[in-house]
Amino acid sequence: MSGLSQQIKDYVIGAGGALVGLTSKERLSDAPPSGDPSYLLASAQSVVSFALPIDSEAALRFISKEDWLGHCYDRKEIISKLYAIGDGLVTLLRRKGFDAVSVDINSNYRPEEGANNVTEMTEFHPDFSHRYAALASGIGRLGWSGNLMTPEFGSMVELGSVITSAQLECDPLLAKSPCDNCKMCALVCPVEMIDLKESMNVTVAGTTQKIARKRPNTCCWIGCTGYEGLAPGGEWSNWSPYRLDAPLPEDKVNLDALCISLQKADPQMHQEHNSFTDYRSFVLNPESFHYTVCGFCRSVCHADRDKRLVRRDRIHNSGVSALREDGMHVVATGNSVIENTPYLVNVNIEKSDSESFQKEEIASSSFNPLDHEVIAFLKNKK
Ligand code: SF4
Ligand code: SF4
Repeated sequence: MSGLSQQIKDYVIGAGGALVGLTSKERLSDAPPSGDPSYLLASAQSVVSFALPIDSEAALRFISKEDWLGHCYDRKEIISKLYAIGDGLVTLLRRKGFDAVSVDINSNYRPEEGANNVTEMTEFHPDFSHRYAALASGIGRLGWSGNLMTPEFGSMVELGSVITSAQLECDPLLAKSPCDNCKMCALVCPVEMIDLKESMNVTVAGTTQKIARKRPNTCCWIGCTGYEGLAPGGEWSNWSPYRLDAPLPEDKVNLDALCISLQKADPQMHQEHNSFTDYRSFVLNPESFHYTVCGFCRSVCHADRDKRLVRRDRIHNSGVSALREDGMHVVATGNSVIENTPYLVNVNIEKSDSESFQKEEIASSSFNPLDHEVIAFLKNKK
């Protein structure tokens, strides 16, 4: 491998990266549009892809509903490290006279016709796809879920990418997919985003993969942002305490319209700065809380199949979540009640907490703007 290519890979590993691979603009030329690195850097020639594993045990406690916060803190730490690695790489490449940009880790979407801001978006295509770069760099392959799956960590990774004008040497692609089609990802999605049987083809770097056919992206947005957390059947949920009045619409037009309405009603979306308007500043702010309620399709996907089965069972036996008056999400004890809110969602509240709400004490310690407003609303109702 040429000097610069090796130097870059050594840098990433030295800076704490767990996985690193290199690919070229040419190799990504057959990918869907978000695989085009020249969208962010006109002089792009190569991409450095890198990954860090999330804490597998924290993720297990999260999906088992033993501990909500540990995984949220872990994600913030991991993503902060990815930003630091990306910034270091950009500095290194620019010092050598190359152009380089670090791709935002998350929440960076291409403009959509007719959408003035994120609340009106329905497609959520990223500026540049970390997954496609990682696949084309030989770090992993797409699993049935569509998430990147690595041999080392399964899908339990966060990804970063740096695009550069430097000509770097491509790494070999991963010959065999680590995904064995166990379908655990489909079985743990509370909004049934991932089809169990129907597939679609995705081609990247000359490799065509069969992945699950998915419902429109607004379906995952509703589940992962937390506007609906309860799985069909009502036996288990993700960490969201929010419930919709009716099942999600099957057709894209109505699903998209619902998602837009929910986003517009969400107090977080009316804040000038939030995790969607500037994800990087949000994550790097020491005060911010990385509110996470789902990602179950990723956290179930351990590299070891037996552990995936255990994780599925943990999720299905984890109960349903409820909101406590201090903003904590907890496992509902059976005494929880569903309350209406002005935000187009109902909320599952622990009954004892509902009764103890005091009008004069508006919670200030809640972890999420919607939670905060809902708690304030319920207290004022008393
Ligand atoms: S959970 Fe199973 S089917 Fe889904 S991506 Fe992982 S290995 Fe593939
Ligand atoms: S993040 Fe949650 S809602 Fe989205 S596809 Fe995965 S399991 Fe489903």
